[in-house]
Formats: sequence, structure tokens, C-alpha cells
Amino acid sequence: MEVLVAERCGFCHGVSNAISIAEEVLADKEAGGQVYCLGPIIHNRDEVDRLAKAGLKTVDSVDEIRSGTVLIRSHGAAPKQIQSLKERGLNIVDATCVLVKRVQRIARELETDGYKVVIVGEERHPEVQAVVGCAKNVVVIADKSDLHKLPQNAKLGVVCQTTQSPEHFGAMLGAIGQGSFSEMKVINTLCKEAIKRQESAIRLCRRVDAMFVLGGLESANTRRLAELCRKVNSQTFHLQNWSELDRSVIGGKRVAGVTAGASTPKWIIDEFVTNLRAVEDGGF
Ligand code: SF4
Repeated sequence: MEVLVAERCGFCHGVSNAISIAEEVLADKEAGGQVYCLGPIIHNRDEVDRLAKAGLKTVDSVDEIRSGTVLIRSHGAAPKQIQSLKERGLNIVDATCVLVKRVQRIARELETDGYKVVIVGEERHPEVQAVVGCAKNVVVIADKSDLHKLPQNAKLGVVCQTTQSPEHFGAMLGAIGQGSFSEMKVINTLCKEAIKRQESAIRLCRRVDAMFVLGGLESANTRRLAELCRKVNSQTFHLQNWSELDRSVIGGKRVAGVTAGASTPKWIIDEFVTNLRAVEDGGF
């Protein structure tokens, strides 16, 4: 099968950096003690399993950590959680992506300047949760059904979860702008890396018979990629890895496209592409 790979796909700077930091900490024998990560280091089960084999223990809450080193993942953590880790005397290694930190800083500044902070994003996503923890009473707006949460006649300071699409952010700004507010200040906190992956995926999926989007089912940026591709090519499939491919979906198709979220390791993309190309050669 002919397989085309998106120009921009796979690990972004923020994720590469977090993985490198995790590997360095795990390799540092002198540090001693267990190395923990507060929540999965990235939303990719295969990569989390790989690092678990190297000694990284993922926990859901601060209460599960008594001693050792704690890694703050690329999505960041709420100030309250970090304070609680400090109070326990733990060694904290911060691998939060600089762009995620920027959203947190902006949320704090908007609040100091008297704005009601509004973030366009997914309420349960850890990045959004961390931003919510940075200011008082942040309003999270996922889509138009959440607009009723906005206060009337307020000064709104609007930011966005880094991995949303410009299209969705723009649509939500238009919808918020139709409500009642006294002032609206918008700061663009979208991640350019995520946008480049979206643009390159959309370009590619126009040219192929089937589009495969590789990445964790929990990964917001991967789900966003799949959602955008599906709008252009109905034959879009979001898979975590090669083992999830239902081979009936490639029957009768000649050209396939492959892209991957910012948290999908290269080895998963390579394995998928190699195996899919082998179909042409009677690889099954
Ligand atoms: S997608 Fe962007 S914001 Fe998210 S970790 Fe990567 S570089 Fe940072």
C-alpha cells in the first residue's frame, strides 16, 4: 500500500523535553529513591509503559507519594499540588511545557488585572485543571453549551487550552462576543506546534483514501487531529498503535495517510508505517 506521512507529526518540543527529563532523572542513580510522575507523563499508554519498565511510577494523587523524586509532567500541575509536594519535602523536577506555563502565568495576570478568567478547553484535561488552579473561579468553556456559565456584564479575560484548533477558538470567541460583557480581552495561547500538526494533517488527508491518526485515546491534541481530519475525510481512524488496526478498513484502498499526535513516539509511527507499506508486498 502507498503510505504518505504528514510532514509534521509526533513528539513536539514540550513532550520531547519531558521525556528527556524523565530519562535523565531515572538514569541518575545518585539521586536515589523512587521516581514518581503525578499523572501519566504524556497521554500515550505505550510510552508510559516503556518508562514504567525503566522505573517511573505513575500516581494519581500527591497522597500516594511519601518520599523520593516527583516529576511534574508536560501538562503541569496546580499550584496547590506543588505546594503540597514541597511540604512533604519531596524532590520536585518540573517538566511542564513552557507554553503551558505561559497560559498559567497569563491566567494569574488577568485575574490580578481584574478580569474574570475564561479558558476555552476541556474541563477534565490536566492542562486546563492546572490553569483552573492558578486563579480563582476560572470559567471553562468547552463549546457553546457552556456559554451559560459566563457571568453577566463582567470583564472577561479569555485564553485557550494550547491544543485546541484556531477554528474552534475563533468560533467560541464569536459566540462569547455575542453575550453580555463589559470588556473582553483575548490572549492567544494556542500552541503553534499543535497548529502545524493540524494543518499538515488536513493537507494530507485530502489526498488519501484512508487517514490514520496515531496517538493515545486520552490525548487531547490527537483527538483534535482526528476530529479535524474526519471533517475532510470520512475514512479517518484514530488508533493507538498497529495492533489496533482493523484490516478490513484498508480493503480496496490504494493510498493511506498517517499522522500522529504530539505525544506519540516515533517508534509507534515507524512501526505502523512499515507494516502498512508491507501490505502492498503481501506482508500479511
Ligand atoms: S503540544 Fe505544544 S503546548 Fe503541548 S506540550 Fe507540545 S509544545 Fe507544549
